[in-house]
Amino acid sequence: MLTVNAIAATSATDPLVRTTIQRRDLGPRDVLIEIRYAGICHSDIHTVRGEWGEVPYPLTVGHEIVGQVTEVGAEVSKHAVGDRVGVGCMVNSCRECDNCKAGQEQYCLNGNTGTYASVDADGTITQGGYSTHVVVDEDFVLRVPVSIPYEKAAPLLCAGITTYSPLSHWKAGPGTKVAVVGMGGLGHMAVKIAAAMGAEVTVLSQTLGKKDDGLAFGARDYHATSDPATFEALRNGFDLIINTVSAPIDMAAYLGLLRLDGTLVSVGAPPQPLPVPVFALFGNRRSFAGSSIGGIAETQEMLDFCAERGIAPEVEVIGADAVNEAYERVLKSDVRYRFVIDVDSLR
Ligand code: NAP
Ligand code: ZN
Ligand code: ZN
Repeated sequence: MLTVNAIAATSATDPLVRTTIQRRDLGPRDVLIEIRYAGICHSDIHTVRGEWGEVPYPLTVGHEIVGQVTEVGAEVSKHAVGDRVGVGCMVNSCRECDNCKAGQEQYCLNGNTGTYASVDADGTITQGGYSTHVVVDEDFVLRVPVSIPYEKAAPLLCAGITTYSPLSHWKAGPGTKVAVVGMGGLGHMAVKIAAAMGAEVTVLSQTLGKKDDGLAFGARDYHATSDPATFEALRNGFDLIINTVSAPIDMAAYLGLLRLDGTLVSVGAPPQPLPVPVFALFGNRRSFAGSSIGGIAETQEMLDFCAERGIAPEVEVIGADAVNEAYERVLKSDVRYRFVIDVDSLR
């Protein structure tokens, strides 16, 4: 066992604190990663605050992990010491079910092993990336292209793939009109990726406060959802809406923005239900869908896509002791656009 420095939540209400956690000894197919940066996803906050259900405290969260390989097990063939690598929201899956065989490990029918708060094969609870090292099966370790700086690569492992996957699945591209609701960590990546795919992108944010940024990220248009006129002006306008909001939204109002056969995909994961009035679906034969992160091969595809297109998240790098303050700022939508922990501050 390896004892490593980390930050952990001890309850739903207390601040996160410095601690140490255990990493397993390297198995033959495991990779030891010295973590350099870990992004702060709103899912970390939902989790540690107990908003999604019971939490196995103390818990170290973090599933936007990048670093360097420092040791490999005897049978590892995909990664070598010194490689720049990343780990996202999953560290294992059953590999045998139909969804795993289809490369959709995020939808493993036997439940994938989450990077944190999951029961691992050895019965221990997985611990996430707000720590100096992690041990992960090589199949769930991604290659980080050299052109993406470490700190900017981290948010791609969740915010990047979670928006790339539905944009790719629902075929955002030239000739399609895409709206992105909420421009935080996921939302700003959705704007950049959809624009790079060739779609015409509109941002729907609570206010116009981040309009210049949205346009700089590639959006063609930007509207405030606090203004009811927005919903009139944009009615029947979009092929695809990516909802990244961490709280419930007025589904009828947003579904009304879809044109014929349009789809509203929720990647935002508020703890409360999102009630859908069926009559809002009848008009224009609209669909409401959900999407969860992406498969491992698709995550690699996304990293390579971002490297080729020169797309990277906007990050604010913080030290380990600023995490609690960063959480408060995320909750106030005061994030530009992803906090990333410099893990050197934990060593
Ligand atoms: P974030 O950085 O906090 O961004 C959420 C954005 O939503 C905010 O920046 C804000 O944008 C908007 N917003 C927040 N509260 C709102 C409210 N009450 N009403 C309207 N708009 C509001 O969070 P994130 O890390 O991008 O994550 C977003 C959500 O996706 C979370 O629920 C997270 O758990 C979920 N998630 C899901 C997956 C998945 O696999 N499906 C993966 C990762 C994250 P504006 O300031 O522009 O209005
Ligand atoms: Zn996440
Ligand atoms: Zn499976």
